[in-house]
Amino acid sequence: MRVGDDATVTLPIADEVALGDFARRLMAVLPPAAFIALYGDLGAGKTTLVKCAAAVVGIDPTEVVSPTFGLIHHHTAGQGIDSGATTRIVHADMYRLSGIDDLAETGWDDAVVGASHVFVEWPERIADALPADRIDLAIAIDSPTARTLTLIGRGPRHAEAVAALANQ
Ligand code: ADP
Ligand code: MG
Repeated sequence: MRVGDDATVTLPIADEVALGDFARRLMAVLPPAAFIALYGDLGAGKTTLVKCAAAVVGIDPTEVVSPTFGLIHHHTAGQGIDSGATTRIVHADMYRLSGIDDLAETGWDDAVVGASHVFVEWPERIADALPADRIDLAIAIDSPTARTLTLIGRGPRHAEAVAALANQ
């Protein structure tokens, strides 16, 4: 559904296999330099979704672990899925960031430049530093295996991606 510049969709996810299918559909519609803010409680599946997204572009998902000490991890796939260009995924977890004033020293500004996809866990911690053009993706836990995803595409580029998912 499109409301003004934003688009929203709610998707039931039965299990981790379905999450992998969703990741494939998500990666297929994302714009260049996509920014995805991942909301949800501990254990919701934020890191698991980034693993699935990495696997879609040919990055070993076991490489994707919760960034703790460094807060920001970089993953590069040798070849992009269709263009042959390098795919760079940035995976950040702001859970341990003490405050937004400490963001600069994590290397955040440099990290997001030139990334193909940026995924941020605990984006609430850096609310003021989030780009206006992004997807807010919330994961709600329905059962040990089932989740409900709610996506809001903000700004025209990301709204188009969410609208594409809504129309599938
Ligand atoms: P977060 O990063 O949100 O704290 P994790 O991805 O680290 O959460 O953990 C999610 C846990 O839930 C993992 O152990 C994963 O195997 C499990 N899980 C079970 N079903 C699902 C599902 N449908 N989607 C995502 N994770 C799931
Ligand atoms: Mg996590």
